[in-house]
Amino acid sequence: MFKDPQYYVQGVLDRNRLMLARTITLIESALPAHQEMARTIIDRLLPHTGKAVRLGITGVPGAGKSTFIESFGTLLTEMGFRVAVLAIDPSSTRSGGSILGDKTRMEKLAVNEMAFIRPSPSSGTLGGVARKTRETMLVCEAAGFDVVIVETVGVGQSETTVASMVDFFLVLQISGAGDELQGIKKGVLEVADAIVINKADGDNISRAQMARKEYEIALHLLTPATPTWSPPVLTCSALKMTGIREIWEMILDYREKMTATGELERKRRDQALDWMWFLLKEGLEEWFYRNSKVRELLPELKRDVENGKTAPTVAAIAMLSLLDSKCAI
Ligand code: GDP
Repeated sequence: MFKDPQYYVQGVLDRNRLMLARTITLIESALPAHQEMARTIIDRLLPHTGKAVRLGITGVPGAGKSTFIESFGTLLTEMGFRVAVLAIDPSSTRSGGSILGDKTRMEKLAVNEMAFIRPSPSSGTLGGVARKTRETMLVCEAAGFDVVIVETVGVGQSETTVASMVDFFLVLQISGAGDELQGIKKGVLEVADAIVINKADGDNISRAQMARKEYEIALHLLTPATPTWSPPVLTCSALKMTGIREIWEMILDYREKMTATGELERKRRDQALDWMWFLLKEGLEEWFYRNSKVRELLPELKRDVENGKTAPTVAAIAMLSLLDSKCAI
């Protein structure tokens, strides 16, 4: 590690890929010294962030995420845009290996000079992984990437986590036999800015069109987050490269409309604030459970509440007052 954070800051601003990768490694490190360095770097890079299109993509395994990102990302680079692809894969924490980490899934993009692919951080809770990815997104923006794609498989809360850090959240689906909507969580529909039915090619085209209608009806039943944008349903073939350009045009349309009303800026401001509150809560909780007096008293109080010997309110206040008498509510 270099001692002077400015070395990293300049490296990132100069679009030096090695320095970008090293900065991300600092962000992902568990060492306190690295984390402090990463915080300083991010703070200095912050004025250079915010220009990219932040795009979230989710879909079940096999929906075609990597094929889609390969086609979509390649198209964008052909248009002259620089594209960064990051991933949030909470399952990598459990399995020890990231399903989204495999660069060979996006063979063409991985060797494309205009693209940068970074697998999911391989350890930590969803909150921890999300923090690292969010900071990595900012660093990529400072390094001049025009589009940052954050990919996730729908494990646990990961879709909502990704939706809360991007401008536009795209849900990739495939048409199956029978009830199309069965496989999709309601919470995911609520955060989708668009649904794209992939694999609309060959024999599958009419089925994809039918699925599209079903999703349109389902989305129609939900109240959109804003009157400015009703999430559309599109079809595409990531493999045959059809319908891909239309998806980019749709994202630009969203951007234009949301920028005109000031909603995009507000969305980002709200996301930043929500993020601060999240970190604060996480930090407070960690700090609380680290306290030796809390750790000593916790098992006993837990038992007493379970046995009905102590009221939950009394137990909670007793623990809070251990930290500071002024903490008592
Ligand atoms: P992921 O798990 O969501 O990343 O899915 P992949 O991109 O690995 O795709 C899963 C499988 O679906 C692969 O065999 C792809 O070749 C195939 N696939 C992806 N997109 C399409 C498409 O548009 N049409 C067809 N026919 N197959 C596709």
